[in-house]
Amino acid sequence: MTLIFDLPPAVTIPVQGKSATFPIHRIFCVGRNYEAHAKEMGNEVDRTAPWYFTKSPANAVLSGAQVPFPKGTQNYHHEIELVIAIGAVASDVSAEDAGQAIYGYGVGLDMTRRDLQSFAKDGRKPWCTAKDVEHGAVFGDITPAAQFAPKTQRIHVSVNGESRQDATLDEMVWSCAEIVAHLSALYTLRPGDLILTGTPAGVGQVQPGDTILGGIDGLFPVELKLT
Ligand code: MN
Repeated sequence: MTLIFDLPPAVTIPVQGKSATFPIHRIFCVGRNYEAHAKEMGNEVDRTAPWYFTKSPANAVLSGAQVPFPKGTQNYHHEIELVIAIGAVASDVSAEDAGQAIYGYGVGLDMTRRDLQSFAKDGRKPWCTAKDVEHGAVFGDITPAAQFAPKTQRIHVSVNGESRQDATLDEMVWSCAEIVAHLSALYTLRPGDLILTGTPAGVGQVQPGDTILGGIDGLFPVELKLT
């Protein structure tokens, strides 16, 4: 069967030590998973359960990409995040069993049109256009879970060499295992699913021409250049 037209090739993520790459099925993002970030946005952390929004795999780009500053925003923000890469089917798993579904970890950027998000929040409207931005889900290479376990590692990002966000992974309200368990009760998680686990305090504005460089100790860095 042939197609009426071709789509752009899907982005797949390099994996440490492998020639094969990690295809992207879906992209889930956790909201308000660091108390200090929730506070800087004028919000409280909800400790009853994690909650989510999504991004389109079509909007994913790899670390090192040079991309246009997005349309429709005067206030584009960086959010540095630990990314969970799912490698096995997981449905209604417990936090104790959630690790079996985790293929590996990476560093990601949840780029955000903050002005559109504020507009959405004020009007009780959805966040889709604020969060699902073209070229707005940025992924560094994945490290298999055998080589990395989230503990107290530093998570940080700089813009043009100036430090913006700097925290540790143990500030996360919901652990990776808790997130995978909770999300697996809402979706049957499948290989290729990615979960961005929330951002620490220090989010801020970027401009055309900026270079954003983020990292988590023990993982590959993520870099994005805006033109
Ligand atoms: Mn985020």
